[in-house]
Amino acid sequence: MRIFDNHAHANEFTGIGAEEVVKRFKRAGGTGIIFVSLLTWSIGGSPGDKDWVVRIYEHTVRNAQIARSQGLISGAIVGIHPAECASLVEHGWSEEDVEEFMRWTIDLAARYVSEGKAVGFGEYGRPHWDATTGIVSLCNRVLEYALERAKDVDAAVHLHLERRGEQTVMSVAEIARRAGSRAHSVVMHHIEPGVAKLAWEKGLMPSIPIGRRGELESALRMEPIYVVESDYIDDNKRPGAVIPPWSLANKLRNAVYRGIVTETYIDTLFDNAIKIYRLLQ
Ligand SMILES: [Zn+2]
Repeated sequence: MRIFDNHAHANEFTGIGAEEVVKRFKRAGGTGIIFVSLLTWSIGGSPGDKDWVVRIYEHTVRNAQIARSQGLISGAIVGIHPAECASLVEHGWSEEDVEEFMRWTIDLAARYVSEGKAVGFGEYGRPHWDATTGIVSLCNRVLEYALERAKDVDAAVHLHLERRGEQTVMSVAEIARRAGSRAHSVVMHHIEPGVAKLAWEKGLMPSIPIGRRGELESALRMEPIYVVESDYIDDNKRPGAVIPPWSLANKLRNAVYRGIVTETYIDTLFDNAIKIYRLLQ
């Protein structure tokens, strides 16, 4: 059985770091993992500083390399989170300057993908918290640019979004349609299981977090038209905010042992992830 964690972070500055995350994940039966860029300040940087963008991208690339060196299938998703975009506006940057900066971070991510260092961009998207309409539309323009550039270099994109069910899915589907995104290459990170099927039918890739009680159970009742994620943040100060990748692996293996799903079902979730990034197995 092959087990894929589609969205995780590792951070030796606040937690146990990639070496240890990968070791524990592998021991629990994990076979594939995608590492996603953290906020620049989580490794000691400051928002809006281009040098720190490079450092956070390099950090993510290194995490994926560590996973591959231990025999896992892995890739890096590099980008700047909408929280960082919003914080620049809140710190007095003009929207024009923030947009230009965010576009620069996407162009840099595109270079990482072209050079084979990363497999996609993320997290881009919209605030999941209450934000001004100005910030939301700025984030939407950035999101659309990310999808356009992703198409140029055949990159996947991890989107961080509000959880407004069908409304969220339909708005992303429309932007993906305009950008001409490749089918199932746009990942709706942290999606509610209830709209996963709709997202899949609209050509997006639902990525279901299985930390919260009930989320895995409702996911496993569906056809295998999604991927799963831990969204592990590797921060000792916030234990239990999400589950670690090794718990994700244990939960999936348990579901098979308890006869809730078959091994083939779990393998199909793995194959879905491979198709997003066109990773070699
Ligand atoms: Zn995340």
